[in-house]
Amino acid sequence: AYDVLVVGGGPAGAAAAIYAARKGIRTGVVAERFGGQVSDTMAIENFISVKATEGPKLVANLEQHVLDYDVDIVKNQRAQKVIPADQSRSGLIEIELASGARLKSRSIIIATGARWREMNVPGEQEYRGRGVAYCPHCDGPLFKGKRVSVIGGGNSGIEAAIDLAGLVEHVTVFEFTDTLRADDVLIRKANSLTNVTIIKNAMTTEVIGDGNRVTGMTYQDRLTGDNHEIELAGIFVQIGLLPNTDFLKGDIALSNRGEVEIDARGATSVDGVFAAGDATTVPYKQIIIAMGAGATASLAAFDHLIRLSDS
Ligand code: FAD
Repeated sequence: AYDVLVVGGGPAGAAAAIYAARKGIRTGVVAERFGGQVSDTMAIENFISVKATEGPKLVANLEQHVLDYDVDIVKNQRAQKVIPADQSRSGLIEIELASGARLKSRSIIIATGARWREMNVPGEQEYRGRGVAYCPHCDGPLFKGKRVSVIGGGNSGIEAAIDLAGLVEHVTVFEFTDTLRADDVLIRKANSLTNVTIIKNAMTTEVIGDGNRVTGMTYQDRLTGDNHEIELAGIFVQIGLLPNTDFLKGDIALSNRGEVEIDARGATSVDGVFAAGDATTVPYKQIIIAMGAGATASLAAFDHLIRLSDS
């Protein structure tokens, strides 16, 4: 059995594993895909102290750093259930894998991350990272002085539009329904900006590019059925971030968005189970934040372990 078993191998999971291993305790990581969302990222310019890097490079560094310690990495395995210690036969917390195997540990750190909801239109995958973006904090500065769109008129979409308006030439927000679902104060702010246009009842239909980068997109006016094309350098998709937490439903308290509810130490509703990163209620989803959260959860797990009676 492990002392700390980390579920997830993104920045949060890697940080948690390193902090645990440095305490000299038995540490494991089980990950469906080591690296997580970072594997899908190209330019990273906000990982403080590294001016610029690329996703795959950062993932290789993460793995190397973890492997520098005595950590068991179990790759390409998906966790499908958590069994709290008071319900398991072993008296330890158990993680059931999709293969049916069970891993046992005295504490668990959930770091399964999240994924951006996609538009599912032609061109989106082809131009992902080449004009199609999901994170304004990450990619906004790459579109300085250019025209962009934001897909989605909820809080994250309108926040993105306000944020981008300060960097880019012009932002067009596309909302599918006839009403924006953002807070009034955000809508008022967006409406006050001269370089933000909001189009409602608009269904995005295609991302257009020149084979190299995005050059525009098409949308349909859902009221008239008319099709339109607009020239753009970037499209920020803001239609939701889905935490990878389905497998925890019923066993661990989740927010109404499906995020694992954590306190300031990363503790969840289940004794001995901690969580970190994009899978949790942490307000901002970024690499550096996920790493800090992973370190926090790991130190909290260690504190928990030294208080267990059998240690
Ligand atoms: P993730 O990176 O999502 O990792 C989750 C891990 O859990 C993965 O290993 C996954 O395989 C595993 N997993 C999931 N479910 C299971 C399961 N059931 N069983 C086992 N393993 C499982 N942030 C920045 O700070 N700067 C940027 O420039 C930046 N650019 C980005 C660009 C893109 C295209 C994307 C998608 C994100 C970007 N982000 C950026 C956000 C950043 O990648 C995330 O905030 C960060 O990766 C979150 O780390 P995490 O460890 O919480 O989760």
